[in-house]
Amino acid sequence: MAFARLLLVLFALLAALPGRAAPQAPPLKPLTVYFFDVGQGDAALIVSPTGKTVLIDGGPPEADEALVPRLRQLVQGPIDLVIMTHPHLDHLGGLVKIIQAVGARRFMDPGFNHPSESYRKLLDVVGQKVGQVMTPTPNPGSPETLLTVGLGEGVTLTILWPRTPRDAFLDDTRSDVNANSIVAKLTYGKTSFLFTGDAEPETEAFLLTRPIDFTSTVLKVAHHGGKHSSTAPFLAAVKPQAAVISCGSGNDYGHPTPEALQRLGDVGARVFRTDLQGEVLAVSNGTTVTLTPKKGRSAPVVVTGRTTSPVAKGPMPSGASGATRGKVVQASGKLPAASARASGARYVGLKGSEVFHSEDCRALERAKTQERTVYKDRASAMRERRPAKDCDP
Ligand SMILES: [Zn+2]
Ligand SMILES: [Zn+2]
Repeated sequence: MAFARLLLVLFALLAALPGRAAPQAPPLKPLTVYFFDVGQGDAALIVSPTGKTVLIDGGPPEADEALVPRLRQLVQGPIDLVIMTHPHLDHLGGLVKIIQAVGARRFMDPGFNHPSESYRKLLDVVGQKVGQVMTPTPNPGSPETLLTVGLGEGVTLTILWPRTPRDAFLDDTRSDVNANSIVAKLTYGKTSFLFTGDAEPETEAFLLTRPIDFTSTVLKVAHHGGKHSSTAPFLAAVKPQAAVISCGSGNDYGHPTPEALQRLGDVGARVFRTDLQGEVLAVSNGTTVTLTPKKGRSAPVVVTGRTTSPVAKGPMPSGASGATRGKVVQASGKLPAASARASGARYVGLKGSEVFHSEDCRALERAKTQERTVYKDRASAMRERRPAKDCDP
C-alpha cells in the first residue's frame, strides 16, 4: 500500500514538472557543416537534417588519406552531391580517391574549360562512377531562376554562380578559373552559409549587380583569405557573423592575408582558421549556428542567424533574354532523385541522334550541332526517342 502511494506521489510530481503540461515545439533538427582541415585547399561537407550529403571540394591530392576515412565516418552510402567549385588542384585533388572510395550520386562543376591532367582524370572517374554529371545551367525556359537543390526540412542550396549561358563566364580577370568558381548559398530557417570557392573581386562585383540577398551567418572565405577577394562592398552585403578560412599552416601564399583579415574584422565577423584550429564544425538549428573548432582551447561560438528572406530579393534587371522575375523556386524533387534541375525539368534531343538527354547533361554542351528538339516532359520525349545512356534521363 505504502509503495502504491509512493508511486502516486511520484506521478503527481512528474506531472507537475515544468514543460510537461504545455509541451513546446520541438527544436529543428540540426544542419551540420564540416569545414575540413585539408592543409592548403578547401573541402566542406554539408549534412542536412534528413541526412542528405553535399561535399563542396575535395582538398589537395595529399588530403585524401585523411579525408576518405573521415567521410566514411560521416556519410552513409555514396555522397548525394559532389560539387567541385573550380578545377584547381587544391580543390579537386582528393576527389578521385573520394569518389572511388565513398562514391557519389551526382557531380556538379562550373563547366569552365580548363585542360589539366588532374581535371581530365577526375572527369574520367566521374564518368565511370557517378550517375549524373551536371553544370549549374539555368533552365532555358526560365533563365532568371536560380538553380536550387532541396536537401529536406526546408534546407536549400542555391547556386548563385556561374549561370552560363544566361551570363557569360567572367574573363580578363586575375584568374578566370577562380573567377568562375561555383558560389552557393545554403539556407536553413534564419541561418545561412555562403560558399565562395576561390571567387575573385570580379565575381563579387558581378554578383553585387544581381538582386540577391547575400546576408549569410557563416561565410566560407574566398580564396583562402587571399588579399584581392573578400572586398569591402561584398562583405558589407554578406554581413557574415562568422567566417571560416581554409588554408594550410605556413603555406607559400601567405594565406590568410592581413588585408582580408582586416576587412573581415571590420564587418565584425568571428574568424575561424583551419590552419590554426583544425576542422571547424558548424551546427545550425535554424535559428543559431554553433561553431566548434577541433584544435586549441577555443570554446564554441554561437551566432544568431539574421536571414529574413530567401535568396532573391527582387526582380532581376532586364537582360538580353527578356528577364522576368528573379524568383527562387524549389527544385522539382529531392535528392537523390534527378532533382537539382530547376522546376519543370525538360529533355533535349539532338538532330541526327535517336536519344534524348536531360537538359543539364554535359553531352549537350559538347554537342557540335545546335539543332535540337526540346521536350516539356519525359513522356513526349519517350514517344520519339529513347533515353541516352550517359545521363539516363
Ligand atoms: Zn583556385
Ligand atoms: Zn584554392
